[in-house]
Amino acid sequence: MLPLKDGDKAIVHKLLSSGCCARCVLRFCCVSVQAAYRKPPQETLEELRAFISDPENGKSRQSAADPAAGNGESHDAAGSDPPGEPPVKRVKLEPVEPGAPAGGDVSAAVKVEEEKEEEAASGVCVACLGILQELSGPAQAVKIAEKVKEGEYEFDTLVLSVSLPAQLCVREHSCWLHVKKESREKSAALGKDDVIPVKEAFKWIMQGLVAKELGGVAVVIRSLFEVSVEFTHPETEADCHFLATTCAGCFKPTKNKQSVFTRMAVVKALEKISDAVFLKHYTFPPPRPSSCCVPRDVQCLHASVFVAGRYNKFCRSLPQTPWVIDGERRMESSVEELIAAPVLSSFRAAGFNFSSSGREDVDVRTLGNGRPFAMELLNPHRSKLSKEEMKQLQETINKSSDKIRVRDLQIVSREAMGRMKEGEEAKTKSYTALVWTQKAIQSQDIAFIDAIKDLTLDQKTPLRVLHRRALAVRQRVVHRMNTRYLDPHHFHLELKTQAGTYIKEFVHGDFGRTKPNMSELLKMDTDILELDVESVDVDWPPSIPE
Ligand code: ZN
Repeated sequence: MLPLKDGDKAIVHKLLSSGCCARCVLRFCCVSVQAAYRKPPQETLEELRAFISDPENGKSRQSAADPAAGNGESHDAAGSDPPGEPPVKRVKLEPVEPGAPAGGDVSAAVKVEEEKEEEAASGVCVACLGILQELSGPAQAVKIAEKVKEGEYEFDTLVLSVSLPAQLCVREHSCWLHVKKESREKSAALGKDDVIPVKEAFKWIMQGLVAKELGGVAVVIRSLFEVSVEFTHPETEADCHFLATTCAGCFKPTKNKQSVFTRMAVVKALEKISDAVFLKHYTFPPPRPSSCCVPRDVQCLHASVFVAGRYNKFCRSLPQTPWVIDGERRMESSVEELIAAPVLSSFRAAGFNFSSSGREDVDVRTLGNGRPFAMELLNPHRSKLSKEEMKQLQETINKSSDKIRVRDLQIVSREAMGRMKEGEEAKTKSYTALVWTQKAIQSQDIAFIDAIKDLTLDQKTPLRVLHRRALAVRQRVVHRMNTRYLDPHHFHLELKTQAGTYIKEFVHGDFGRTKPNMSELLKMDTDILELDVESVDVDWPPSIPE
């Protein structure tokens, strides 16, 4: 038994004869029993027909049609229907009325009516454009499941999402306005929100079928794994066009969209347009399409997975990220590419975003415990690796190149990634620089440098980064320095500084843009020949015992 009320009869009748499919009729009758949509549509159609022709319900039909009780006939007589209204309606109500004269004319009318309904029921639905007809069923579920299997994703649950052509909203609006009129005449107010959306009905039908095809996986409302089904219907795209003149403000061209008639814009326009204006421009029933919607490729998308660790860089000719100038590559590889290649293949991800706690220049090595980094892996087909597998992955990275080394490799949450950037400026970093001096180094020079504590520098944006950074003066602190004498013109300078200090500029002075600088302090020209990062003092990600 369908959960319908007597008052729904006129609506059912009207929609069926207008070319709505059985499931759309349920939607407009606000049937929210999911099982009703899962029945074969032919069965539902037969039940609907039995429902409207059931003489048991004749009384309520009569009272509905009685002008005194419900003003039932007036809508046909008043001529308020738009030009598209089929003229058969008045005829169709009459034959089933008790006490109506039984005669040849009436049974002929019944026959015509039945034929019309038969024809209406067999074509493509004017409301859902076929989506709730053959596009919702076992065959479609097999197609969706095949696509998911093809991707070889690993997942526990999935969420099914549906994208519908925008003109469906226009058609829905037209049907709703007429159903609303019908229900108002029965003194029951029907809100647009009460109508079950096509999307919802589609999911009710398909979720179970898709789950079954995938061996019983849970299809849920929220999941990291999303399977999207998109439908288009080129034949009826022009349905929306009148809205561009009636609600011009709603349709602004946007860069990335092919058409201004996006679903959002159409929904907005339909909220604004008055019923009278809508009915002037759009018919009921909506024009019958000759074909049903075209299902586009099923898209599978797994939410990003985040991986973090620390890297060492042992090479003075390796940039952190691909170095491209004027479209041409300057170095054959980069830190992020060396790390990313094995990670992407382990997680079978489509792409990545790399970030790190600061960065070093191409000619600077990063030693010690390394620099914290994190990677967002886009659309990973695998999302869970055991600790053992992560360890193996780390080994694979480390064996793939002697230019870098990775430690503490682990899966982290998106939120935890934020900790890497937290309070970055307050952190300290340690460096070793190889310094050249113009004059021979004296022992008092060394002692003087070693005695300096918490020296505040004023650093103007260095010349070498001025093309990508705004000109500013930043104060940074050199907490302490320690020298190791090499020969009269060379020494190693160990520094512990505030993060973000430009070390090269502190040593050579950057034409006086960093003050004070090593050249000033030693009262002779100095330059930096080599630089190593010895430690980045960020306690994230947590270290993993080897
Ligand atoms: Zn339909």
